[in-house]
Amino acid sequence: MDRRHALKGIGLGAIGALGLGKTTPDATAQTYEKATRGLKPLKITKVRAITTSPMSARLVIIKVETSEPGLYGLGCGTYNQRPLTVVTAVNEYLDDFARGRDVDDIEDMWQNAYTSSYWRNGPVLNNALSGLDMALWDIKGKRANMPLYQLLGGRSRFAVDCYSHASGRDFKELEDSVRSKMEQGFRHIRIQLGGYGSSHLSSQPHFKEADFGLASDGHMDSLPYLKATPKMFEHIRSTCGDDIELLHDVHERIRPIEAINLLKELEQYRPFFIEDPLSPEQNGYFKYLRSQTSVPIAMGELFNNPHEWVPLITERLIDFIRVHITQIGGFTPARKLATLAEHFDVRSAWHGPGDLSPVGHAANAHLDMNIHNFGIQESVHFNDAMREVFPGAPTMKNGYMHLPEAPGLGIDINEEAAAKHPFPEHPGYWSPLRRRDGTAVRP
Ligand code: MG
Repeated sequence: MDRRHALKGIGLGAIGALGLGKTTPDATAQTYEKATRGLKPLKITKVRAITTSPMSARLVIIKVETSEPGLYGLGCGTYNQRPLTVVTAVNEYLDDFARGRDVDDIEDMWQNAYTSSYWRNGPVLNNALSGLDMALWDIKGKRANMPLYQLLGGRSRFAVDCYSHASGRDFKELEDSVRSKMEQGFRHIRIQLGGYGSSHLSSQPHFKEADFGLASDGHMDSLPYLKATPKMFEHIRSTCGDDIELLHDVHERIRPIEAINLLKELEQYRPFFIEDPLSPEQNGYFKYLRSQTSVPIAMGELFNNPHEWVPLITERLIDFIRVHITQIGGFTPARKLATLAEHFDVRSAWHGPGDLSPVGHAANAHLDMNIHNFGIQESVHFNDAMREVFPGAPTMKNGYMHLPEAPGLGIDINEEAAAKHPFPEHPGYWSPLRRRDGTAVRP
């Protein structure tokens, strides 16, 4: 038997084993109809943005309604620093674009919505696109009656391992914070001495004496931070032991050559990862950083454009990809990014801050549950008001994030409760941070 006939034989055998060997086209259609619970083509009838702020961050949720009464999907388009621009992009442009299109063709929708603005890959339009995209995945999960991670291929782990943030203005305060996180069950803890860049260690903001900038502008000099950070690691390793994983966020803020020197110094403390040692504008420095130190590097929370992450992954210059998935355009591109990263043993550490909505956190967690190259996830902390607005939001237990066993993203929005939490008065921009002489620091 030649190979062609052998394959044909196997194919017929397999069909027979499935009981499909004697099916007629009509019977096959009936089987499909049964298996898909009678799914019929549905159209998008409306796409709209909902704003709410139960915990200070300015959340933007996109709701996609369909031609089936009561069936809708939710997505996250939260861009805390420019939320109303996303609302406009959704209500004035994406709604009209999406109406009447098929809810099931997510890939087609993403590709065409992505290019519908012609210019693309910016944070505002990526967040709007993310809201629409996640909502369509939510709807597909509801139609399949499966949690979203099941649609992706099922679970790779029982829950999502998370890290928590510990901080203190001095070593003792930080140590107490670390111990408290350990008692809560966390095995991965991010340590920061004060705020990002330990700006409280800087003194003499001369620019303020010279009346340069505004009195409210922040001040940070590199040297106090660069001197204190290795000592901070030394203190926590010597007092809290070697069994916990330590993480740290540089948050850009220093020059590339300073970052190279700092990471070399930190290598002896075995950090789990050091985050954002360079700004995205200095991506070209990663190859020099990598050649100087084996400290694991996490990067990407400010990325919007594939050209920012593809070279870092394919040239094996980072260890953790840390994009904010609404900022790259949603679930569809994040899934593809995860697959690319798996081939280069780059693990995920999706950005999961307080200014991501619970819908966005749920999307992170569904990916985390499924992908093989999951690394770590930021833990979530929702107050009662947030949980009232978002029933089904992910929960934490013993350092793990858990999703409800519910179809789609598994999360809903109570719009009446959401309306009780309008945006804060302050528009929400990132305030200037300056060196002693007033030079702007990024960010
Ligand atoms: Mg960060």
